[in-house]
Parts: sequence; structure tokens; C-alpha cells
Amino acid sequence: MPRMSTVHFFGGAGSVTGSNFLLESSDVKLLIDCGLFQGCDFCGHANWDVFPYDPASLPVLIVTHAHIDHVGRIPRLVKEGFRGRIISTEATRALAEPLLFDSMEILSEEANRHGREPLYDERDIKQALSLWEELPYRTTLDLPVFVELEFLDAGHILGSSMAALTRGGRRIIFTGDLGGDSLLLPPRDSVLGANYLVMESVYGDRTHTDAAPSVRRAKLKGVIEETAQRGGEVLIPAFSTERTQDILFELRELFAKKELPAMPVFVDSPLAEEITRAFLKNPSYFKEDIAARVAGGENIFSFPNLSFIRTTSESRHSMREPDPKIIIAGSGMSNGGRVRSHEREILPKETATLLIVGYQAAGSLGRELIEGTRHVMIDGERIPVRCRVEQNLGYSAHLDGPHLLEFAAEAGESLERAFVVMGEPASAGFLAQRIRDRLGVDAIAPSAGEHTLIEW
Ligand SMILES: [Zn+2]
Repeated sequence: MPRMSTVHFFGGAGSVTGSNFLLESSDVKLLIDCGLFQGCDFCGHANWDVFPYDPASLPVLIVTHAHIDHVGRIPRLVKEGFRGRIISTEATRALAEPLLFDSMEILSEEANRHGREPLYDERDIKQALSLWEELPYRTTLDLPVFVELEFLDAGHILGSSMAALTRGGRRIIFTGDLGGDSLLLPPRDSVLGANYLVMESVYGDRTHTDAAPSVRRAKLKGVIEETAQRGGEVLIPAFSTERTQDILFELRELFAKKELPAMPVFVDSPLAEEITRAFLKNPSYFKEDIAARVAGGENIFSFPNLSFIRTTSESRHSMREPDPKIIIAGSGMSNGGRVRSHEREILPKETATLLIVGYQAAGSLGRELIEGTRHVMIDGERIPVRCRVEQNLGYSAHLDGPHLLEFAAEAGESLERAFVVMGEPASAGFLAQRIRDRLGVDAIAPSAGEHTLIEW
């Protein structure tokens, strides 16, 4: 009789955010990711729901990467009794620490607004960090009952991994998020030999036409140049992790080669500054040539006209700086953070450009803006949108549909089933259909709360 196990899709199924999966058999339970649900607010109400399992009964939590929709409920899990091992790469742990402390502040403000208890506090984060172990890529760790865990490089953000779990020769891989053509990171590892994939599908039904390095760069340069010629400002809502560093790295090169006229650049996010420092402390995770430059002491994210803004008064000051200028501010989906104050300033200006460089969740302010709304509500105030709104998804840290299909094909003959998750239903459903049609492999897009039996 083959041994059967159950995969529970508790979060990140039928939605992009809230990644949370449980692999369970009669003798072992492994939780994979414990992320925040994010939508119109930084954090959806679902985050306060009781966990659909007993956190105290879980021996292991495996973390694919440091994005808050993959780690954001870990302190909550600890608050609810989890005392098992937390395992990730070293860089994931290094990035998760500032990200969790930052989200704690945003979450407590939100909890206050909604009259709820905070999701977690500082003690819970510290306790989570005390349970946290590091495992390098491509190194096998023996877990109880002969389960082997190996992290494969997912190429998505610094330290991002796919969690490959092997038992009795059967292999299931939880991909986390998947990247490709990264500016800073090496190519991801192969998944050849997997029997099951639990794979992301953020852009499962889309093709990034501007993903080629030369195209995305030309587009970035073009938007900044045009805006500067109009005497305007470029505002880039950017995620603190990876996207901000990608853009800084690119701007450094563009300014150094005089491909852009000199202008002030502000990063208005203390978190992004902290994350940028953490990147520089983990050079081994970069592409080889970049790793060598960083290890040699080069600050690949710095240039003369760049300022990191710390205080809110410095933030207000940056708004008064004459145009043209570039402001990079978080959060990336404009659903919180300092970017909203900048948006309030620039959205009504015809000379300005809002440049979106990342995924915008349904219900977020960023999503409304790319969908062409003419007015938005920011902190209760109706703001007209007269500036240009441009998108450059070439810096996306996610694979697009054709590359996700290629990724699934890489698993080869051994692949029996793909579970397509971490996408909106249309996107996940489309990719699952593609995998069935093109690869002849069984593929489903489960909904949140569903479970399925696998031979593992
Ligand atoms: Zn991610």
C-alpha cells in the first residue's frame, strides 16, 4: 500500500497572498509558510481568524521567502502556541526580521482603526526568531520520520527558496514565488524529478512583454526622461525588498553612464534602507559577478544624488525639492505607508508620473490606479488623478504565464500533478488548464480550505 498524505491549502489558494499550506500524514505535520492576507488594507480581516489547526501541535514550519504574504502571520502562530522549528535560508531570516517589525507597526495602527487586538507584539516576533534555524541552498536536512528537506533557489528575492520535501523517494516541491531574469540574483534551480508541484501563479494568465533586461531598462529610462522634460516628478511605489534594490542598482548604472540627466533621488522608506543594508550583508546570494563587487566593498545601491529619508519631516521636505526628481516610497501597492502622502501631492499634477513596477492586488489603491480611475480616496480625501500612470512589470520578481508553464515542464516525466496556487482564481485556473493541455499533466487550482491526497 502506498503511503498517502494530505496537502491542505489554507491560504494562498484562490488568492495571491496569505500563503499557508500543511503537509500532513499519520506521523508528521509540516507547515509551509504562514503569510499575511493582503488586500484593500495592508492586512485583511482574515488574518485575525483562528488557525485551522492547532499551532502547538506542529513540529516544523518551513519558510520559502521573506515577503510578508509568506511570513507575516508567523508571530501570530507563535502567539497561538507554536513552539516548533522554523527553517529558512539565512537571507530569508535576515530579511524577515526587519519586515516583521515593520509590519507590526502597520498592523497595530490598523488594529486600532478597526478596534481589534494587535495581531502580535514584539515578544512574539522575538520568540519566533529564537525558534528560527538557517539552512543553505542545496543542502539536505533530515526531518523526523525520514523526511528530507532541501531548499532550491527560487530566483524571486534574496534568499528565496523552493522547499523540496522528499520521503521514500517521493518528492513534493512547494515553490513559494518564482522569479527569472533577475538583475541581481542567479538563475533559479531546476525542479527535475518532482512528483508534485505546489506552484505559484501570480501572472499565470499574462505575458510580460517588457521582461527582457534591455527592454525594461529602456522603458524605465524613457519614463524618467519624458517626465523630467515636462519638469515633473516620478513617483515609484516600490516594495522594500528586491524591487527597491533593483531600481537603485539600475538608476546607479543609468546615472553613472550619463544615460539620465542628474536629478535627486529619494528613497522614502526606512524599511527599504534597512533591507538594502541586509542585502549588502548577504553577498553570497547575488549573481557571481555582483557578489564579487559587493564582497569587494562596493555599495552597488548607492550614487551621489541619492538620499534615504528617515523622518516624516524629511519626507515632507523631499516633496518641496524642485522637480525633476524621483521618489521611491513604500508600500508597493499604495495600501499604506509614506507613498500615500506623496500620491496625495502628485496624483493631481499633470507633469508628474506614477510608475508602477510591481504586482497590485485586487482592492489595492495601486490596482485602482492602473485600472485608470480618475479619482481615488486617500485617508478620507477625494484626490483627482491627473498625472500619467505608467506600468513597467519588467522588474517583476515573478515568472509570467509562458515561463511558469516552462517551469512545470522542467519537472519532466516524474511530474504527476501540479497544484496551482498563489494567484487570483482566473490566473490560477488558466495556468492549470495550460498545464493539462500542453503538458498532459493533471493540474488543479484549489480553493482556500480545500485539501487533497497525494502519494508521499
Ligand atoms: Zn514573494
